[in-house]
Amino acid sequence: MDDSDFRKWSHRASDWSADYRETLAERPVRAQVRPGDIARMIDQTAPENAQDMETIFADFERIIPGGMTHWQHPRFFAYFSSNAAPAAVVAEQLATAIGAQCMLWQTSPAATELEVKMIDWLRQAVGLPDGFGGTFQDTASTATLCAILTMRERALRWTGNKTGLFGQAPLRVYASKGTHSSIDKAMWISGLGQDNLVHIPVDEHGAMQTDLLAEAIIADRKKGHRPAGLVVCVGGTSTGATDDVAALCAVAKEHDLYIHVDAAWAGSAMICPEFRHLWQGIEEADSIVFNPHKWLGAPMECSAHFVRRPEELIRTLAMHPEYLKTYGEEGLVNFSEWSIQLGRRFRALKIWFLLRAYGLDGLRSRIRDHVAWSQNLAERLGNEPDFEITTPPLLSLFSFRYAPAGFDGDLDALNRDLINAINDDGRIYLTQTLHDGRQVIRFTAGSFDMQERDADMAYEVICTIARSLGQEPA
Ligand SMILES: *Cc1c(COP(=O)(O)O)cnc(C)c1O
Repeated sequence: MDDSDFRKWSHRASDWSADYRETLAERPVRAQVRPGDIARMIDQTAPENAQDMETIFADFERIIPGGMTHWQHPRFFAYFSSNAAPAAVVAEQLATAIGAQCMLWQTSPAATELEVKMIDWLRQAVGLPDGFGGTFQDTASTATLCAILTMRERALRWTGNKTGLFGQAPLRVYASKGTHSSIDKAMWISGLGQDNLVHIPVDEHGAMQTDLLAEAIIADRKKGHRPAGLVVCVGGTSTGATDDVAALCAVAKEHDLYIHVDAAWAGSAMICPEFRHLWQGIEEADSIVFNPHKWLGAPMECSAHFVRRPEELIRTLAMHPEYLKTYGEEGLVNFSEWSIQLGRRFRALKIWFLLRAYGLDGLRSRIRDHVAWSQNLAERLGNEPDFEITTPPLLSLFSFRYAPAGFDGDLDALNRDLINAINDDGRIYLTQTLHDGRQVIRFTAGSFDMQERDADMAYEVICTIARSLGQEPA
């Protein structure tokens, strides 16, 4: 492809992208393909000779979109949404065209300086105090891994990277049972081990019990273990369980633990001051992650990782081989020293476009709408005699269960059947979770272009399909 072809095909891609967005609502939300359907359409080996772009693009249109679940669909109510706001998509095209590699200030001065600014814009936007620095990691999983590694190094007086963990007392990390699996994975990868992640029991709302945290730390000390850190959850993935940040931070400080807050989903909502009570006390945290690539509108991958003392993160992750030295530029920010990966994308550009193209107020009003529409839907479903709201809305997330009177079969199986029937129907997309050992269905609104009528359709689809269950021949 030469430069004039590039112009032509970039335009084609832009046109396709705009058409895609315009026709999204007509597509089934969840991919309606079976495993292997797509693989069968792809050649077994790479071509020896160049193919023309017409063919390549035609194959893209024929094979790929129909095999995708449409996360930008206005009726995507599953998992947590992952938005790609158009203005941020444009920024991604530009960053990709530049082919930026943002490991050092020298390799990308504008990207580095913009990243410092955008982290600070977001810091202010979510109401964090002055003094927190940060960086954009690819995902919350990576930010959490960085935080667990920092806990490890801090507890080992910065010797772990050199000497490893052999012969050390077990380093203990505390979290509630509702925390995300990325914390378990960080324990595996960091070498601390799954068994040293201590799951503190939760109260009836799913929040970690503060007194039990204190007891667990003291008991571990008695056994000769070394308490290293605490992971606090704000807006848990399953049903939105939220820990008491202020109370837990107080205990953690008393015992000199490093505190990481996982607000991967809920953090975006903190641009609205009225929701900040959910993480009251956040200014005491050492490390905080939230994902602009979830609710805020930035395309994958973009996790804002704030740290109170960047020097601790850098001390954990910075390496200085000769080929990465930039003489005469000491004291500059080199973001590869803040992350696990060396080469890094230019993530700040999409945040810059996003925050300017919609304004904080535009983003706030979307989030407020999503919260209001979810709460309204929960109310309507709760008023239906055969539905039960199993966890009340936390922001825009609630869970429910279909429990028709007089049904004496297996309710878990009935709810699994319901979710499959809803997702096969394709008009909306929902996922399930376990709550108190029971199968429940999650609903969460967060699609950038969702309208109130989409929540209305969810209500209609859920009620109609539930009541048709068992009425057709199996
Ligand atoms: C989504 C989510 C994660 C994982 O986020 P990734 O960016 O996909 O790694 C972690 N914690 C919570 C609470 C989440 O909602």
